[in-house]
This record gives sequence, C-alpha cells and structure tokens, in this order.
Amino acid sequence: MELKVRQRGGIVVEYGDQGVMLDPTRNSHSYPTFVTHAHSDHAAAFKHPEREKYATPETYELLKAMGWNRLDNLNPVRFGDKVKLGDIEVRVHNSGHVLGSTQYEVNTPEGTVLYTGDMCTEDTFTMNPAQAVDCDMLIIETTFGSPMFQFPKRDDVAVEVYQWAVNTVLSGRIPVFTADSIGNAQEIISILNQYTNLPVVTAKSASRVTDVYRGVGYNLDSVDSKSDEGQELIESRKCAIVTPKRSKMVADKVEVALVSGWALLFRKKRVAFPLSDHADYRGLLGFIRRCKPKRVLTCHGGSMTKDFHNHVKRSLGVPAAPLSSRVETIRGPLMKNENRIQACSRQIVRTVRIPGFVYQPGWLVKEMGRQGFTPNETENSIEFLIEKGILKGTSDGVHLA
Ligand SMILES: [Zn+2]
Ligand SMILES: [Zn+2]
Repeated sequence: MELKVRQRGGIVVEYGDQGVMLDPTRNSHSYPTFVTHAHSDHAAAFKHPEREKYATPETYELLKAMGWNRLDNLNPVRFGDKVKLGDIEVRVHNSGHVLGSTQYEVNTPEGTVLYTGDMCTEDTFTMNPAQAVDCDMLIIETTFGSPMFQFPKRDDVAVEVYQWAVNTVLSGRIPVFTADSIGNAQEIISILNQYTNLPVVTAKSASRVTDVYRGVGYNLDSVDSKSDEGQELIESRKCAIVTPKRSKMVADKVEVALVSGWALLFRKKRVAFPLSDHADYRGLLGFIRRCKPKRVLTCHGGSMTKDFHNHVKRSLGVPAAPLSSRVETIRGPLMKNENRIQACSRQIVRTVRIPGFVYQPGWLVKEMGRQGFTPNETENSIEFLIEKGILKGTSDGVHLA
C-alpha cells in the first residue's frame, strides 16, 4: 500500500482504501474531514451539516461569530490531539495563523504528511508561531511564496501603526483600519492597546470575532460601534476604528488604512500596513527546512507565487511540485496515472461540446467507461480540466468554461 496525496475538491490523503479529506472546498469525498481554520476558503465543509468534521472549538466559535449556521457534526480537536482512523492517525498542531488554526499531521505506516493550512512562522501580537513537524511529504500554503514578499519587522510595523493612528486623531480625523475580521483585526487592537491610550471601536463581524478571542482569554480592549460607548467615542472623534474590509463606514471624516500582507504591494499609493498572519517567502523556506520533508507540494498560492516550488528545489534541494489533481507519493508523482489523465481529459473535451450545457459527472463516467477509462480516472480528469479553467463545476455538473 502506498501513501498518496492529491487535490480533489480539497486535499485528499489516502492510504490503501482509507483516507482523510483536508479543507474540502466541496462535498467530493466521504472520507473523514478536517478543517484547519475559520477563514471561508478553508471552512466550506461546514456548509454541509451532514458531514462529520474535525476542527478546533475556536474554529467553530469563529464561524458562528461570522454568521455561519447549522454547524452540526463537529468533533472538536485541540493542539496535541491524536485522532485514530484505522491505519491513519491525524495529529493536531498549531499553525500560528489565527485563533484555533491548525496544521494536520497525517501518519500512516508508509510515512507522514503534514498539511500546514494557512500558517505564520513568526511570533505575532496575538499568536504563537507555527510548529515545525518532521514529515515525509509537506503540503504547504504559499500565499506569499515569492521573493518579492519580505515583510518588515513586526515591531517596526507596530510603531508605524500607532504613530499613524495618534497623528490622525491629532489632525481631527478618525483613523480607520480595514482588516480581515479574523486575525488582522485582533492584532491591530492588541497593538493599539499595548502602545497607546486610544480607545478602539470595532465594527460588525470584527466585534463578534473579537468577543470570541476574549472568550478564550485574550485581553483585548475594544467596544462595538453600535454600543452607547462606541457611539460616544465616535462622536468624540478620539478613538481608532477597526472594521472588516469592504464594509460600510460607521463614521465620517475618517482616514482609512489597509492592514494585510498585501499591503506590501500598495504602500506607495495609500496608507497600508503589511501586518500579515501568513509566513513570508523566507518564513516559508525556513519552515520547510525545519520539517525536513522528502517531498514538498505547494498549494494556496496565486500567479505571483506559482514558481515557489522551483525556489524550494533550488535553495533547499528538496523535490517539490504544485499540488494538483495528479496523484503524488513520497517518491514523486504516479506518472502512469498522469498519462491516463491526459488521455481521458482529451476524450472529455471531445465529448463536452455543447456550450453552456451542464454535463453530469455520472454520465461522463459512463461515457468514458466505454472508452476504457475507470470512474476514478474520469473524476480526476474532470478535476484536472476544472483546474485548468477548461471546465467549470456547478452543483449539478460541469460545463465548458
Ligand atoms: Zn486563512
Ligand atoms: Zn487561506
């Protein structure tokens, strides 16, 4: 039996006929499901109440605070826990990203896979750094996996943050920090609490999420914009506001700053603070080195970070590739399978010809079966074509993109 990893509506780790699903993006597999954290691009499994899910209680509380409902079938896990599922054992580690965020270490008799989820390798104002874990295959997120992303020292950013906030108040305007409700918002509150006497007013989901942080012992001093105290502070104009991105302003005469790792790209054009809850390029490479993997698979990146696997090969000498629908093992991809997927994909493209028509996967499996392809090969090929942007998936099936 071989340990296998691939992307198929999430990350699938398989050993023999057993497997686990990590951060699924749709309901593609019946394997036990693990969710790393409460950001919506990772937590989609919670849209399927019938599914058994493993996640931390903090992730659950944060999703509730963000307005998700029907969060049924949770098996709560904590850092250090081990979940035994037949021959597979999943261990839970801190990923340093946001409250309750985990990495999952999947142990099998053939070797170990570590999936980082989103992670941060630095000590931040709210989180302890991600823990490196010895593993054979490392599946690592690469949001900022390009040499152009090098975050300045956190303490220096913190100084910029509070100086800007205080100066803005002195000039008669209210400093507003737009930040992700989960993670960045709490770090800004923590910095302002630590360095200034400026009261902090939070808006909308940033308030509810901060309540969750407080509920597990974080000492964050802020009030909601709708409360009497919040209203008074906004009228006095002697406060800072922390609000989710893209939400309506709760005050006028404001000065707005962006808080995000992406701020590195916008700093010249607008007020933007590069305070990230992700590792930067060097953080990622250092983390990989400490995990000592035999093979690295990259995921969760964009066009700017698509070469990260080459950087891993060059600077660390570790074999690396982007995680895709092709099956990967510790020794490398299963090539035979890849040729089959390509042949099957060509066949599917020849078959799916009517623009806009939705083809059901079951029908395609039957059609491809006639050409000698297994259901598994057909499903992988569909996944491959979706990834390539040739097909689009809907809830009923797939159609030409
Ligand atoms: Zn995240
Ligand atoms: Zn993410």
